[in-house]
Amino acid sequence: MSGMSRFFIQTYGCQMNEADSEIMARILQRAGYEPTDAPEEASIILLNTCCVRAKPEQKVYSRLGELRPIKERRPEVIIALAGCMAQKEGQALLKRVPYLDLVIGTHQFHRIEEFIHSCQQGGRRICVLGSEDDPSIARHELAAQTKTGANLKAFVPIIRGCDNNCTYCVVPSVRGRQKSRPLHEIKAETEALTARGCKEVTLLGQNVLAYGRDLPVNADFVSLLESLQDVEGLERIRFTTAHPRDVDDRLIEAVAGLPKVCEHLHLPIQAGHDRLLKAMGRGHTTDYYLEMVEKIRAKIPGVSITTDIMVGFPGETEEEFEASLKLYEKIGFDQAFTFVYSPRPGTPATKLPDQVPQKAKVTRLNRLIELINASALQANASQVGRQGEVLVDGVSEKDPGRLAGRLRNNKLVVFPGKEDLIGGLISVTTTAAHMWGFTGEVSQQ
Ligand code: SAM
Ligand code: SF4
Repeated sequence: MSGMSRFFIQTYGCQMNEADSEIMARILQRAGYEPTDAPEEASIILLNTCCVRAKPEQKVYSRLGELRPIKERRPEVIIALAGCMAQKEGQALLKRVPYLDLVIGTHQFHRIEEFIHSCQQGGRRICVLGSEDDPSIARHELAAQTKTGANLKAFVPIIRGCDNNCTYCVVPSVRGRQKSRPLHEIKAETEALTARGCKEVTLLGQNVLAYGRDLPVNADFVSLLESLQDVEGLERIRFTTAHPRDVDDRLIEAVAGLPKVCEHLHLPIQAGHDRLLKAMGRGHTTDYYLEMVEKIRAKIPGVSITTDIMVGFPGETEEEFEASLKLYEKIGFDQAFTFVYSPRPGTPATKLPDQVPQKAKVTRLNRLIELINASALQANASQVGRQGEVLVDGVSEKDPGRLAGRLRNNKLVVFPGKEDLIGGLISVTTTAAHMWGFTGEVSQQ
């Protein structure tokens, strides 16, 4: 294949975007294009974007600036922008970036091949946004599976969109209302993946626990987990994100009891003060969260609990921020993603009084990160010397002399071992704790 028939995709933001990029990559591969890591040699350059905060948006604009010389040298190159920022900005992007060829929204990305073709043939610049009522993307997801080998691990979107109204969040407005994929379709996709060598799936949604609420038939998240148990070749099931408000005994029992479901829950807390939680529209209190964590830990031995937490929400006082730190410490999370509140046009939180100055936000963020790191190290230190099942991902990125894989609770372990262990499930004993995970050794059976 000539060098000019390659595509380059760069993905910003969450795992849902990674999953969407994977679908677009498969569609382009089916159309005869080959992937490349070098935009300089691609004939299609695609940025799959995120607009959850201002920062990922700025990154995309500066990336577009870097791509400009490529377009000037080779005007036939198609530069395309997909994802949440495309949906949010639409036509304005074509105006702002004169060398951008294609803007493709979150409801239309499965038609990427057709739009690229129109750009190439007609020399037109196109913006397609569509609406959330467009025919299901899901069918294309399944069709996008090719005969090529699957990865060891795969994301499987089970819900698109979000029915919540967190006051800071732009996702519902760019991704639309919640749409669950039919259970049989998710199962068929998982079977197709495992038939090609995949051993672990991560079920994706903004709130996977709301799965099925919008479906005409009786299906919920636990019944989905149950139904995936008998997929041959599937070893592990993970899921993200779970809204804490929707955690119930049935879910906890399913994670505890279903052998393929891994013992890890990602439960975004966002803040550790009831006034903030209320202002954010999260629908639960700090007491509720604490009780839930207790129940989870009592019922699921070895479970790890991770979270998302935000600093600088409008009106957040020093005391309220400290309450978040205290609660974080009390819970002793295994790990966390941190976010600095970023006002998103059109969301209710932008209108709240007392926006927190940038300097205070940064100071709070740094204090929080310090606590998260200490907490992670402490949690890991208590688990040294334990044996656990590891799915061996490959050679360690940081230490090419060693292998790396994840325990069922999602923690990373790096250990010496032969490359023929890659792709397998083995027992590893942890020997030392780090902030990022463990070093370990293959257990003597
Ligand atoms: N649906 C998931 C949930 O509710 O837990 C999270 C999805 S969101 C894409 C990922 C994280 O981005 C959120 O948990 C939140 O902490 C953060 N986030 C969302 N909107 C934000 C904003 N305006 N500023 C800063 N962080 C934000
Ligand atoms: Fe945004 Fe809240 Fe939906 Fe998560 S649950 S995507 S934070 S609105």
